[in-house]
Amino acid sequence: MATREAACSCGQLRLVAEGEPLRISICHCLACQRRTGSAFGFQARFPRDRVDIAGESREYVRTSDQGEPRAYSFCPECGSTVYYLLESAPDVIAVPVGAFADPGFPEPGVSVWERRKHGWVIPPPHAEHAS
Ligand SMILES: [Zn+2]
Ligand SMILES: [Zn+2]
Repeated sequence: MATREAACSCGQLRLVAEGEPLRISICHCLACQRRTGSAFGFQARFPRDRVDIAGESREYVRTSDQGEPRAYSFCPECGSTVYYLLESAPDVIAVPVGAFADPGFPEPGVSVWERRKHGWVIPPPHAEHAS
C-alpha cells in the first residue's frame, strides 16, 4: 500500500497517509487563493483513520465560499498548513498536495469554483467540473 509523507516548510509538523486518496481536487475559489497564496488550492482527502499526525499545530477556522466551516491546522513555527478538517465530512482529512512535495502525486479528478479560475489555468481534461 502506498505511504506518503506530508510536512510543513520547517519539517516540525508532519503526517503519514496510507493508501490512495479518496478524492483529489483543485479549487479556484478566492478563499483558497488567499489561503495558499497561489492561483488555486490543490488538495487530497484521505480516510481519517489512515493518517498519522506528528508535531505541534495551531488551528484556524474559516468559512468556505459555500458557507462551511473548515479547520486548518498549521505549523506555529513556519505557518504552513499541513491538513484540514471539513465539517461536512468528519471521516476524512484533507491535505494540501504541496505538503507532499511530490511532483508524481496523482492529478486532480475534480476542479471546483471554475468561475473564479485564473484565465491561464487549464484543469486536467478528464477532471469533473463542479460549479
Ligand atoms: Zn513548520
Ligand atoms: Zn476553495
